[in-house]
Amino acid sequence: MTPQAALLDDLATLLGKGGLLTEADDMERYRVDWPGHHGAEPLAVARPSTTRQVADVVGYCHRHDIPLVPQGGHSGLVGGALPDADHPELVVSLERMAAIRHVDPINFTMSVDGGCILQSVKDAAEAADCDFPLSLGAQGSCQIGGNVSTNAGGLNVLRYGMMRQLVLGLEVVLPDGRIYNGMKALHKNNTGYDLKQLFIGAEGTLGIVTGAVLKLFPRPQVSRTALLACPNVDAVLELYALARRSCCDLLTAFELVPRTCLELAMEAAPDLRDPLDAPAPVYVLMEVAASGPLDLDAMIETLFERGFEAGALTDGVLAASEAQARNLWHIREAMLEGQRNRGEHLRTDVSIPISSLSAFHQCASEEIQALCPQATIIAYGHIGDGNLHFNILPPPGLGADERSTLLHELEERLFEIVDDFDGSISAEHGIGRFKQSAFMEMLSEPEYDIMRGLKHLLDPRGLMSPGRILPRPAE
Ligand SMILES: Cc1cc2nc3c(=O)[nH]c(=O)nc-3n(C[C@H](O)[C@H](O)[C@H](O)COP(=O)(O)OP(=O)(O)OC[C@H]3O[C@@H](n4cnc5c(N)ncnc54)[C@H](O)[C@@H]3O)c2cc1C
Repeated sequence: MTPQAALLDDLATLLGKGGLLTEADDMERYRVDWPGHHGAEPLAVARPSTTRQVADVVGYCHRHDIPLVPQGGHSGLVGGALPDADHPELVVSLERMAAIRHVDPINFTMSVDGGCILQSVKDAAEAADCDFPLSLGAQGSCQIGGNVSTNAGGLNVLRYGMMRQLVLGLEVVLPDGRIYNGMKALHKNNTGYDLKQLFIGAEGTLGIVTGAVLKLFPRPQVSRTALLACPNVDAVLELYALARRSCCDLLTAFELVPRTCLELAMEAAPDLRDPLDAPAPVYVLMEVAASGPLDLDAMIETLFERGFEAGALTDGVLAASEAQARNLWHIREAMLEGQRNRGEHLRTDVSIPISSLSAFHQCASEEIQALCPQATIIAYGHIGDGNLHFNILPPPGLGADERSTLLHELEERLFEIVDDFDGSISAEHGIGRFKQSAFMEMLSEPEYDIMRGLKHLLDPRGLMSPGRILPRPAE
């Protein structure tokens, strides 16, 4: 038996029937992510169904020097879950670990497997008259383990925070196969270093998240969605400050949607109609929600009045029904589809102090247009968190090499501007492999030393998601 055949044989024994995929056709879907990037063919795909099996597989890989990469719902946008081409890896997919372990509506917590789909978690919370507020376009496919590992953000960060603020406990299989059991459902726990935080946002480089205790909230009973037209980004920020002050801390989403994005959305979803009579340069899609019987309409009408008076708002529509609210949110989803349909482009996920966003937007737009006048800028995002997806569509008709060189140049310049504004090159998508070189350029020596030290402490053989976030040591 060849060493490769022996390895597959051992893993198949550890994982049992249906637990290991080795045929190229079966493994194909584990090589592709949502944006359509392809990874290499993995050594095999392990599909454990229990934490014990994850630990057995990881321990085996540790003893036999086999690199591995955990995989959730393949919706990550920085290539972290794709199998490596130069060093064949074992994919560990959590898709068979999708149980809701326990819901506690008095403690407002839920314990789940790492492979639970985010939408199932949200549904289970709702069934217990609670809310799990993480909300993002990929919620029908992304998994809690992936959300934890990327410290996912999404639409409601403004009110509830990112995944880091939504996790109370974690269960993690460490790179040597031991299990760290931190599944405590405690709202307060001040005993030494907060170890779970190490694994949140670690993109699978420090261990495999097999379970999580999540924080729940009272289920909103009333919510209102509005689309507001604004003359420019400055006005959007003025409106944001007004909304924060006049909506009693009930603002759950405040999204910037430029006109270009609305047009992309209508291109991708021809059933969508322009919600307002006249086009505006930028829009805000906002939502307020409350768990008690509050008059949200009065609150939003006051905001409208104050916005009009200040000149920050030129028109707007308040959804009169749930169906109308869904239609407005459909714009947000369809514009992503419209962007994807335009082919390869520069996707970024930057964050800037909110008060500097307008100046950044203007500076970056001018610089990018000066470098490439035919490029189309689509800068949208969770503006209430200072998070802009400053994306750039290249001019049509470029060859693949020319396009990728141009996008690389534009990204470099954009990230320099982000740095000038004291921002971050990744607000929520993470580093993975695609943002690694830019990340390395921005890391200070102490930051690098701490990160490298943590990685070495937990994964001295460098087998867990090698080459993601930090480069391999020899590279
Ligand atoms: C349409 C769309 C909209 C999106 N909107 C947002 C948004 O608003 N906000 C946002 O933050 N992100 C957004 N994303 C990005 C993405 O959905 C998130 O990063 C999500 O958290 C990834 O989860 P996943 O299960 O798909 O992980 P994957 O893509 O499978 O993996 C992502 C990373 O996590 C690691 N990983 C996965 N599972 C585990 C595990 N169990 N243990 C350890 N490591 C693991 C992988 O190795 C990889 O490095 C969006 C993506 C799409 C396609």
